[in-house]
Amino acid sequence: MSETLASRTAVAPLTSPLTIRMHADDNVAIVANDGGLPPGTALPGGPVLRDKVPQGHKVALVDLPEGASVLRYGVPIGYALQPIPAGSWVHERLLKMPEARGLDDLPMATRGAAPMAPLEGFTFEGYRNADGSVGTRNILAITQTVQCVAGVTDFAVQRIKAELLPRYPNVDDVVALEHGYGCGVAIDAPDAVIPIRTLRHISQNPNFGGEVMVVSLGCEKLQPERLLPPGSIPISDTRADAETEGLDVVCLQDEAHVGFMSMVESILRQAEQHLKRLNARRRETVPASELVVGVQCGGSDAFSGVTANPAVGFCTDLLVRAGASVMFSETTEVRDGIAQLTARATTPEVAQAMVREMAWYDDYLKRGSVDRSANTTPGNKKGGLSNIVEKAMGSIVKSGSAPIGNVLSPGEKLRNKGLTYAATPASDFICGTLQLAAGMNLHVFTTGRGTPYGLAAVPVIKVATRSDLARRWHDLMDINAGTIADGQASIEDVGWELFRFMLDVASGRQKTWAERWKLHNQLVLFNPAPVT
Ligand code: CA
Repeated sequence: MSETLASRTAVAPLTSPLTIRMHADDNVAIVANDGGLPPGTALPGGPVLRDKVPQGHKVALVDLPEGASVLRYGVPIGYALQPIPAGSWVHERLLKMPEARGLDDLPMATRGAAPMAPLEGFTFEGYRNADGSVGTRNILAITQTVQCVAGVTDFAVQRIKAELLPRYPNVDDVVALEHGYGCGVAIDAPDAVIPIRTLRHISQNPNFGGEVMVVSLGCEKLQPERLLPPGSIPISDTRADAETEGLDVVCLQDEAHVGFMSMVESILRQAEQHLKRLNARRRETVPASELVVGVQCGGSDAFSGVTANPAVGFCTDLLVRAGASVMFSETTEVRDGIAQLTARATTPEVAQAMVREMAWYDDYLKRGSVDRSANTTPGNKKGGLSNIVEKAMGSIVKSGSAPIGNVLSPGEKLRNKGLTYAATPASDFICGTLQLAAGMNLHVFTTGRGTPYGLAAVPVIKVATRSDLARRWHDLMDINAGTIADGQASIEDVGWELFRFMLDVASGRQKTWAERWKLHNQLVLFNPAPVT
């Protein structure tokens, strides 16, 4: 034990016991020290520990009788299943989870927050698109109607990267938008609208410059015209000819193709036309209000809601004050905070839209015979999060304090600036995919347990919740919010550090670690409709 403790102490700046309480009403606090604290440790101004309490886990600050509310963030995250003496480790096996808040009688747009002071003078260097949106990267994306064409498209993309891309140095990358949809699905089911519009809107992401090209098989259910109906692609001045040409589609079953290489050559030929136009684009100075930021968390621990998520929340407020767009998502992780969110809506209609999304998701989970508690992972629990209520309270703080002005259903495209609730599953890959469809040009991802998550289409800035993770994953984590728990930085300090880093990354002056290593997770579509 002494060896482990000694080696931990050697890299950890914290030597005296430190616990963090989030709200004055809380009767538990979490242990901040690397490696946790041993029994017998006297907490400053608190009880003596009866058990070993791991880092990020909760300790009872007072005696909790059976049935008592265990309060964190000032709300009950559970009820004691047995008497819990002060100084005990409070883990999930000692708690009964509260019922989900009903969706009736919620406070609707009641908060009436004072307007936030505008934040002016911040800019970044971005690629202005014909539709007014701004890209942070200059990427050729190849849209696919169906999974059948994925292998051929990938083969062609490897050749494009090797043979064509070096001739177009202003283009950052070529990305195949591979997915599992397009055929073998009940395409006329009502919920099929979600995967279809997700794919449509991803192909229009600001980082792709409006240069849409499609690879289709020919016999698939999701025909190119259904995926991208006339009028869905804004035509730039430089592409006036494209309007008469219609959608740029390479169809593999076209009789003109004789042999595999003929298909590949077709894709290369079409890709080169788009590369030429993308290569002519230049970055220009644009206001910070052109940022469209999607925030989410993954691999969360008890520090997520203490360090990284509050810092992201502070940064969210900065972005909103700068006139930018910020989306927060992850329905199962905000469901338990629904009353806070509906109160923060700008209008009763926005609050009602949030209730509609929560009700839809409650039904969706019920169809699968589960509820929102299916969200938490073994890693969450190991990291100190007892249940979904505790996780949700820590997750929601990413949204900061701004009024919520808009709600998106899964796969919809963002229409407004300011703070938006974009309803998505909490699954990292599905949430990221849906935020891409909404039009995000920068992604912020907080993690406590650690995940190497990245996307090919937009830069992903990863924020570590603990210094221990930031030290071990020094070439994967972009920002260390663990300094907040260490007492070395404030939430505001890290929020500003993140804001400035975002402007550098958006401008291409900085690359994220996931970009440097080219760590790209797959696009994963949310398809609540049946497959056939
Ligand atoms: Ca997530």
